Amino acid sequence: MRGEEERVVKAKINREGCISCGLCVSTCPDVFAMADDGFAEVCGEITDGNAAEAQEAADNCPVNVIEIED
Ligand code: SF4
Repeated sequence: MRGEEERVVKAKINREGCISCGLCVSTCPDVFAMADDGFAEVCGEITDGNAAEAQEAADNCPVNVIEIED
């Protein structure tokens, strides 16, 4: 990848499966937050600066409900 083209990358959470462990929020608070209902939600876009953390959060979610889409 050349890195000059701007790609929009988004995270998505299948919230029905979230077990509210909070791991994604502590791993990447730029992108994930705990919503008022107690489950995680996407709160921001993935950027070059937080993409690694967002991917780590997706990889480490214990119930695998986070998807990174581009
Ligand atoms: S890591 Fe997964 S299960 Fe834990 S709060 Fe985030 S989305 Fe929910």
